[in-house]
Amino acid sequence: MKIVRIEFILLLMSLLFLPACSPQSSERPAATTASETPDSAAHSPATEHGGGPVHWGYGEDDGPASWAALSSDYVTCASGREQSPIDIAGATTGESMQMSKDYKAGSLKIIRQEHVVDVIDNGHTIQVNYDEGSNLRLGETVYELKQYHFHAPSEHTIERRHFPMEMHLVHQSAAGELAVLGVLIEQGNHNPAFEPVWANLPNEAGEEVHHQHLAVNVDDLLPVDHGTYRYRGSLTTPPCSEGVSWFVAVEPIKLSADQIATFASIFSGNNRPVQPLNNRTVVLDRVAERVAE
Ligand SMILES: [Zn+2]
Repeated sequence: MKIVRIEFILLLMSLLFLPACSPQSSERPAATTASETPDSAAHSPATEHGGGPVHWGYGEDDGPASWAALSSDYVTCASGREQSPIDIAGATTGESMQMSKDYKAGSLKIIRQEHVVDVIDNGHTIQVNYDEGSNLRLGETVYELKQYHFHAPSEHTIERRHFPMEMHLVHQSAAGELAVLGVLIEQGNHNPAFEPVWANLPNEAGEEVHHQHLAVNVDDLLPVDHGTYRYRGSLTTPPCSEGVSWFVAVEPIKLSADQIATFASIFSGNNRPVQPLNNRTVVLDRVAERVAE
């Protein structure tokens, strides 16, 4: 009887712990925690079908031009009409951009607190996971910060100009809607706010590194200016799902040449090319406010 019980407990333990340690589940974030996909949304259709997630990347055979052909779950990457990233044209081009200083669709509040973070290399980028606490409010809707990650060079361009890097802060509402705050990164002085994360980057792509004890205040990573370009877009990685509210900060932040080089030595070229704007409007929003709670 005792033996049976022990076996039963062992079986229970293996049921509880095996999935978390199996190669399959460690593969899952690599292939389907698409850069913009929050962890809680990792069970995308691509993972639920037999055979596990479909590999994608930024190379010749698995890069952005091929994504839609890699899996039926990725067809939106080619057929979507509201895809990200986009080129953000300057105020002078006017045609596709409505400039508005009193955009009333809802004021954006970004609320940040210092939190313990988990830095992982998911095979596509360096991703810093957040458990809870920081959020972004758009009107009545609260979006929780799930993770932030980086692209080099930038995905969004300003008048066709790339920046050396771009940071994406991925937020999700209780209803599952996504809002991503994009911050362009230019070369400048050393930025100490990034040290806790930068000091713990993996040595090479594909390495999983978990640091559960880093405390970072995301507010320190953001530009002082609160202005954002807003538009309706998509995940910039497979499955390229649409319905994402994009906010691209008008003011870039700075990292030193060394800091940029450190990231680029692990990942470079992990940017999707800009997508057609089609009938979308980009709105310059100056009413965003940041609140420390
Ligand atoms: Zn991204």
